[in-house]
Amino acid sequence: MAKPKVYILEKGGFGESDHQAKLGDGAYSCVTTVGLIEYEKEGENKFMLVDTGVASSLENIKKGILELGKIEDVTHILMTHYDQDHPQSNSFFKNSLVISGAGTARQGTPSFGSVEALYPNGFIENENIKFVNVGRTHSRDEMYYVVDSENEGLVIFAGDLMFAPLTELDAPTQVTFDKGFTIDVVKKYIVLKEMYEKYPELKKIFVGHSRTPLTRENLKEYIDAMGKEPYTSYMKEFISELRKRVDEYEKIV
Ligand SMILES: [Zn+2]
Repeated sequence: MAKPKVYILEKGGFGESDHQAKLGDGAYSCVTTVGLIEYEKEGENKFMLVDTGVASSLENIKKGILELGKIEDVTHILMTHYDQDHPQSNSFFKNSLVISGAGTARQGTPSFGSVEALYPNGFIENENIKFVNVGRTHSRDEMYYVVDSENEGLVIFAGDLMFAPLTELDAPTQVTFDKGFTIDVVKKYIVLKEMYEKYPELKKIFVGHSRTPLTRENLKEYIDAMGKEPYTSYMKEFISELRKRVDEYEKIV
């Protein structure tokens, strides 16, 4: 089976550095990384998108696909998770199946099923395009995708499991972001450590809100940072809040 190729159609970013992210004076949102996987199915070139990002990215996404083929040949949208900044152009790709930890569905249909039931072998259409469903981590429905590609080697689309490398957002800023946006920071630590250990051949990690991909070495630096202050204090605080909540819940149920 031929190996797929991977491309980045939109580079993610945060805040003032990105013109698309401006909401108003002093208020900024973000732009989200959008990936494209080109793969072969029955002798024809087909595509999968990884997230569709924010609505303002649609023109760049269309342009990127049209350089390689046709919009109708986008067969799948692989969602890293369903936070509002990741699926905004999904409905534009009418023929595609949306793969998501929250539930996989054909666009425009009301019912959905699990990705594991549809793809019990752990890969989607091509054995070089694998999914890892990690559940509640940064969001309630985290998935990451491992692609053994012809042009970039082994790569991972990690969504917001990491927002950006430490060279762009330092550890205190990442902690602030995790406090605001990550459901389970300890699980995130566990998942990233597993990712590092499981893929020694990993060449690039594309994350949700960085213009540059991370290397496996950057991932190691990130994990090491999570094992030190200020992350350790935050993880301890998170665990103690969790314990308090369990105590409260046990009084009710
Ligand atoms: Zn995001």
